[in-house]
Amino acid sequence: MVEQSDIDALRSAVPPEPKHLIGGRYLPASDGKERENTSPIDGGALGALAQGTALDVDAAVAAARRAFDDGRWSRLAPAARKRILHRCADLIEAHSLELAVLGVRDNGTEISMALRAEPGSAAATFRYYAETPDKVNGEIAPTPEGTLGLIHREPVGVVGAIIPWNFPLMIGSWKIAPALAAGNSVVVKPPEVASLSLMRLAELCHEAGLPDGVLNIVTGEGSVVGEAMGLHGDIDVVVFTGSGGTGRRLLDYAARSNLKRVYLELGGKSPNIVFDDAGDLAKSAKVSAGAIFRNSGQVCVAGSRLLVQRTVYEPFLDALKAETEAMVVGNPLDLRTQAGAIASRAQCQSVLAKIDRARSEGARLLTGGEQILQETGGTYIAPTIFAEVDPQSDLAQDEVFGPVLAVTPFEDEAEAVALANSTVFGLAAGVWTDNLARAHRMIGAIRSGLIHVNTYGGPDVTVPLTGHGQSGNGSDKSMHALEKYTKLKAAWIALD
Ligand code: NAD
Repeated sequence: MVEQSDIDALRSAVPPEPKHLIGGRYLPASDGKERENTSPIDGGALGALAQGTALDVDAAVAAARRAFDDGRWSRLAPAARKRILHRCADLIEAHSLELAVLGVRDNGTEISMALRAEPGSAAATFRYYAETPDKVNGEIAPTPEGTLGLIHREPVGVVGAIIPWNFPLMIGSWKIAPALAAGNSVVVKPPEVASLSLMRLAELCHEAGLPDGVLNIVTGEGSVVGEAMGLHGDIDVVVFTGSGGTGRRLLDYAARSNLKRVYLELGGKSPNIVFDDAGDLAKSAKVSAGAIFRNSGQVCVAGSRLLVQRTVYEPFLDALKAETEAMVVGNPLDLRTQAGAIASRAQCQSVLAKIDRARSEGARLLTGGEQILQETGGTYIAPTIFAEVDPQSDLAQDEVFGPVLAVTPFEDEAEAVALANSTVFGLAAGVWTDNLARAHRMIGAIRSGLIHVNTYGGPDVTVPLTGHGQSGNGSDKSMHALEKYTKLKAAWIALD
């Protein structure tokens, strides 16, 4: 049980040095440049970060390639890889509060959620994939007598992982752990506004015995470090979580360079659908508020479009408004806080602009709609609900990635499905109903990679997160993620 005093003791801990980790050495940027890092909690200084260059990316990729080719990790006995990955999980657990507080100071997620979602999920992810090196086999094909067909599964080589700022440790681990478990070397680019927890994770992985060069970190701007990774001729696969715009650029970089594989986990505008036969409307209102407002809406799978059956629309909105207005918004290092800061000033301005736009589109503002707690120097926005939102409006179609909920009523199941499928995205959805047959029909009809029924949020590492439509391709989590980090090789052998 974490106490507030434990958190307070770490509020001013010194952040990691502004250095990359390349080939097992902590190095400054090739041109020595650094950038000041600030906290969204109060705008205060949070040390500096090395401003990576294309030369730094070259050095990190060369170190990763050397490590891969000489087999120090890629050909290490599976049981030895497994031991080291379990040790990584042990160290993440042992340092979980430190990692969580460091990450919260960097990106503003409320600590109650960060503890679970960041080190908690990262440790579980490392442990899950630690069990795979000695359990994933090749295959023998069912060939005619006199021939033998072998199907090997090999690591792809050098993986470039580009990570967003909303849950860097969790999302980073979803990519780093399976990539390492499969025997690859990895170069990680943390998000520029929230690099610290991934830098600390890399230190812990080295402490756990990961050989030099197997996990490298290059901090800096997406337009420099990320672009250099996307264009690099010696990265075999790029795995990315972030916005659709950057995802498109990465596909373009691959086309212009070495045709590397590109896997994209992108944004969403996820429908959360409440039918009038949902048994406990009070519970669904409470969970639905959390589904959009936890981490101040900076959640890729956030239930940002609420669709409510007309027969329960008004009472449901009353319950939702009450739940929303009761939420504690504020300093994310306070254990009672339920919605923390917006990760950066730029993101805060972007969300406020989208709120203004929604107002001009004629949606009815039910609560919120403004920046709050400005006296703190931090970036906070009141949980905001717009009702009677036009399904074709920008608010219903574009991702806000902030604490803004668009509510639209519907008449029947057919209309709910049509509305649910009316955006270019397909990341997640929620369905609230006590009718089992309807739940199954909705799972089949909604175009999305994850469908919650009578809950929202919380799927663990055992199930995949997959984007449909413009929400991406490939999967994070589960055994399916290993497909991104391995390639098949067939051997056809004459036996007679
Ligand atoms: P972003 O695309 O701006 O940045 C993501 C990463 O890409 C960062 O590390 C950034 O530095 C890097 N980057 C930026 N420009 C680049 C370029 N030209 N070349 C290469 N890399 C570049 O996204 P963000 O604002 O950090 O994250 C928010 C977005 O991420 C939202 O759209 C959200 O829905 C999405 N997201 C998706 C998932 C998922 O699993 N599908 C999870 C979390 C977040």
